[in-house]
Amino acid sequence: PAFLGAARFQRKRHGHDDRQRLSGACDPRGGGKRQAGLETLTRADLPANDVLVEISHSSLNYKDGLAIAGTIPIARRLPMVAGIDLAGVVVESGVAGWKAGDQVLVNGWGLSETEWGGYSRYQSIKAAHLTRLPAGFSPAEAMAIGTAGYTAALCAIALEDWGKITPGEGEVLVTGAAGGVGTVAIALLARRGYRVIAATGRESQHGFLESLGAKGFVARADLAEAGRPLQAERWSGALDAVGSHTLANVLAQTVYGGAVAACGLAQGMDLPSSVMPFILRGLALLGVDSVMAPQAKRDRAWDYLDRHLDRGLLAALTTTAPLADVPKLAEAILKGETRGRYVIEIG
Ligand code: NDP
Repeated sequence: PAFLGAARFQRKRHGHDDRQRLSGACDPRGGGKRQAGLETLTRADLPANDVLVEISHSSLNYKDGLAIAGTIPIARRLPMVAGIDLAGVVVESGVAGWKAGDQVLVNGWGLSETEWGGYSRYQSIKAAHLTRLPAGFSPAEAMAIGTAGYTAALCAIALEDWGKITPGEGEVLVTGAAGGVGTVAIALLARRGYRVIAATGRESQHGFLESLGAKGFVARADLAEAGRPLQAERWSGALDAVGSHTLANVLAQTVYGGAVAACGLAQGMDLPSSVMPFILRGLALLGVDSVMAPQAKRDRAWDYLDRHLDRGLLAALTTTAPLADVPKLAEAILKGETRGRYVIEIG
């Protein structure tokens, strides 16, 4: 079969480019510049993994933006097919448990880092990385959720497991509200009965965020600068997709015994905080990773999404785009110009 529309990374060639460097990190002597583009691959180009999947849909996440724009060396092997998510159907399997016709999805597991990813018509996947497509979702819906939405579910579950945040009592803050994680998080937490406050830099999105379930707003700028280590207590819990000063301020504003689920770094990867919220208010900072999360956690998150995500709201927060639009969308997501989730149609 022809592998039309496979995006993969190549190091920009600098005269004597040698193959060994393709597997290394960016070589600063060569300018370290990475380039992304659409190429046609053949099946022989694919890695030799357990299961061949015909991909119908992928998605766009912040990390895809980083990988394609090359701002952070996400791909640790080159060349690399990008795309951290995929949904499709098994066409060939060399392992028990998976057979032709099975509908599957993959989130993370090193796709676009060490494993070839979802921006390709076909991909060869390690069996351990496959999740069975939940019966309640079409492949397009599963990618509308994608890594960002499944991470929002992991965060919501982490906050609920903390056990001290009661729906209907107090307020739960979601930062990076108009983004992929944020929009799915608002829809989920509002449906679970929490009073959700959205922190966003875009006033133009207030109406949209209200339609997802947000009950109030905080301006992004009000959280973005250095603040005192302990501030007036406001949030029963929070879901932070932003990091840096924003996360430090959110910790400083969370009530005694509350919890903050941290998953992102849209403002920055630093955390200029102190131990004060932890040792004086008994807060929990709950770290959330989607990439290497064990299968049982993934299954729980997808079940949670199936039970609590309103499909109409999912459709409302989703934009569908062809593979050819990925480079321009990658730039837009890094500039904070995209809204909600993006399904990428393959083929
Ligand atoms: P999006 O770009 O869709 O959303 C991020 C949102 O953050 C933007 O929409 C914007 O929201 C806000 N934002 C953007 N730039 C800034 C800034 N400089 N300062 C403060 N806020 C900003 O990305 P995703 O939702 O896909 O991902 C969100 C974060 O979560 C990313 O950092 C991503 O890497 C991380 N992530 C981590 C995962 C994990 O496993 N831990 C998995 C998935 C995502 P608004 O306009 O409303 O202010």
